[in-house]
Amino acid sequence: MKTTIINSELDLLCQQGRLSSEPIAVLDEQGEVAFINSAMQDVLPDGTLSATTRAALTGSKARRLITLARSDGQDRTSRQLFAIPLEHCRLVTLIEHEDDPRIKRLQAQLEEARKRSMTDALTGVWNRNQFDEFLHIEIPRAERYGQPICLLVLDIDHFKRVNDEHGHSVGDEVLRQVSDLIRQQIRLVDSLFRWGGEEFTVLLPNTSLSAARFIAERLRQAIGQFCFETAGVVTVSIGAAELERGETAEAWFSRADDALYEAKNLGRDQVVCAEANADRLIGGEYGDSPVLMPWKSIYESGHPLIDQQHRELFRMGNRLIAASLDETVGKEDFLRLADELIEHCAQHFSDEENILAEIGYEDLDQHHKAHNGLLTRARKLRNQARTGSVNTRDVIDFLVDKLVKQHMLTADMAFFPQLTKPAAEQN
Ligand code: GH3
Ligand code: MG
Ligand code: MG
Repeated sequence: MKTTIINSELDLLCQQGRLSSEPIAVLDEQGEVAFINSAMQDVLPDGTLSATTRAALTGSKARRLITLARSDGQDRTSRQLFAIPLEHCRLVTLIEHEDDPRIKRLQAQLEEARKRSMTDALTGVWNRNQFDEFLHIEIPRAERYGQPICLLVLDIDHFKRVNDEHGHSVGDEVLRQVSDLIRQQIRLVDSLFRWGGEEFTVLLPNTSLSAARFIAERLRQAIGQFCFETAGVVTVSIGAAELERGETAEAWFSRADDALYEAKNLGRDQVVCAEANADRLIGGEYGDSPVLMPWKSIYESGHPLIDQQHRELFRMGNRLIAASLDETVGKEDFLRLADELIEHCAQHFSDEENILAEIGYEDLDQHHKAHNGLLTRARKLRNQARTGSVNTRDVIDFLVDKLVKQHMLTADMAFFPQLTKPAAEQN
């Protein structure tokens, strides 16, 4: 990793041809030579930096300036080695005197190279290398402070068409504009990366999945409503995932990416939030514990609000299952999650009944009774769990299986076809 950073800093400088004639060497954190160019080799007594010189340049009492001794033992006062400390290494160069303008010039070039190696040249946002760096800082931080953190993966829809219809430079302008629009919508603590091509990622520290959904939705709308000068309307699809306890960066990214893939499959221009990592929880580690419920496209009713609330209920159900399997989650936290699910359900039932009333659904009365019965039973069970007269397994069986899954898969599916009927047919 360190060598990569050193190399990328130097590669950039060398590519620009700026350093080709300057004598340059790089010492790594251990004081070993990581890089030395021929101009430097030519001026050093034995063609390399001796162990004594390296120690003097990097040790605890490091000097930044060392007068080069000639092999005949005489001082060469006009030729001095100068070490510029960088984040991961030291850059050693040769100067004529302490005020040599070369030092400032090199420092400025290095700073520019460092920025270049971290940002994307087209859009100016962080690049993919930095995304990996940020992940490895933000994941342990979120875990240490027990804070939620979310990841958005965003991909421009049918971007190839923009290039094909208007040319590559218009495509480039769209990429720049999209990254500006995202930057305007996120907080200072959030970070935006160009992951590659027309795909961006956003890291949202201290953000729960429901807040991330809201932010992603805001991004989607800001881009979809923006009038691009030549390209016109451009839409994006977004996948979101919240980091789970103990999850690797790769697994987390993969869940967000799968959600993006689902958003594309569902017709693009939409946000999909990833479910909990079913594989990880279903695995042998938990024996015959209840399994998580994956969301399937056949559960879609076609009505945006109903679908959004049903998905949220699935997510909350999965969260409840995961909490029941997690020894570090206490009873109070489990009951709080159960409460949240029940209250979300109450709101959803009421919204759903309004929608069914609007379309004149004939079994609305019966559906309303079923809702009431489920809610009454759920609240009673929750109270019994609080006093300890029923266990968490019973709460899950009812809330997840009966309330969320079975009701949606049997009673609700009866009205799905009517929701998607054209308005004229419903009257
Ligand atoms: P989908 O909705 O499935 O994402 O379709 P798409 O056309 O956006 O996706 P696809 O992956 O087929 O095409 C992506 C295109 O993005 C192809 C590639 O030429 C273009 N692209 C990648 N990087 C750049 C860039 O830096 N500038 C421009 N102008 N185009 C780019
Ligand atoms: Mg793509
Ligand atoms: Mg695309």
